[in-house]
Amino acid sequence: MLSIALSKGRILKDTLPLLATVGIEPIEDPHTSRKLIFETRRGDAKLIVIRASDVPTFVEHGAADIGVAGKDVLMEHGGDAVYEPLDLNIARCKLMVAGRPGCLDVGQRRLRVATKYVETTRRFFAAQGRQVELIKLYGSMELAPLVGLPDAIVDLVDTGNTLRANGLEPLEPVADISSRLIVNKTAMKMKHGEVQRLIDQLAKVTADA
Ligand code: AMP
Repeated sequence: MLSIALSKGRILKDTLPLLATVGIEPIEDPHTSRKLIFETRRGDAKLIVIRASDVPTFVEHGAADIGVAGKDVLMEHGGDAVYEPLDLNIARCKLMVAGRPGCLDVGQRRLRVATKYVETTRRFFAAQGRQVELIKLYGSMELAPLVGLPDAIVDLVDTGNTLRANGLEPLEPVADISSRLIVNKTAMKMKHGEVQRLIDQLAKVTADA
């Protein structure tokens, strides 16, 4: 039996069609059901639907054999606790520093940056030799500079419409983001045949897309 951890939203919407091509289809609709564990039409695979930021933790500790997580979530989780064998090339976007034009120029004082991605942001600015003051937010990042909370934000940008609608501009790219297949290290050894078959099948589908 393989357990696969997914999160609601873009990842679920974009991953279910991929899994369906290899016969893994939930019997109930996870978009509408309140269940957290879903049996599939393939008796040897089940889906677990959890918060996006918990997917690496579940897979790291073997509570799921496999997971699908955004590169943003994996970078913030840090370390090399799980294998990351396949870029699924879905939910693509960029992690960007954004703000009003000129906002990064704060003279002698420390730049204040609001983000959900505090570890990633700390590493990004540290690599530039810049110490920043980090403000952890869980949402509505685009609002923060408008009410004077930070100088800049670090957030996911797709079309850029959300930034533009709030008078902000993308300023510096932090990373290219897409969803990745991740695998528990023990499962990779103990269930090697099943896991590798799924990786190979999904690699073929994502390459064809
Ligand atoms: P956009 O207005 O198209 O630039 O989208 C930006 C908003 O959508 C921000 O609130 C982002 O956090 C969110 N967003 C964009 N792309 C993704 C993605 N691939 N996964 C999750 N959230 C995203």
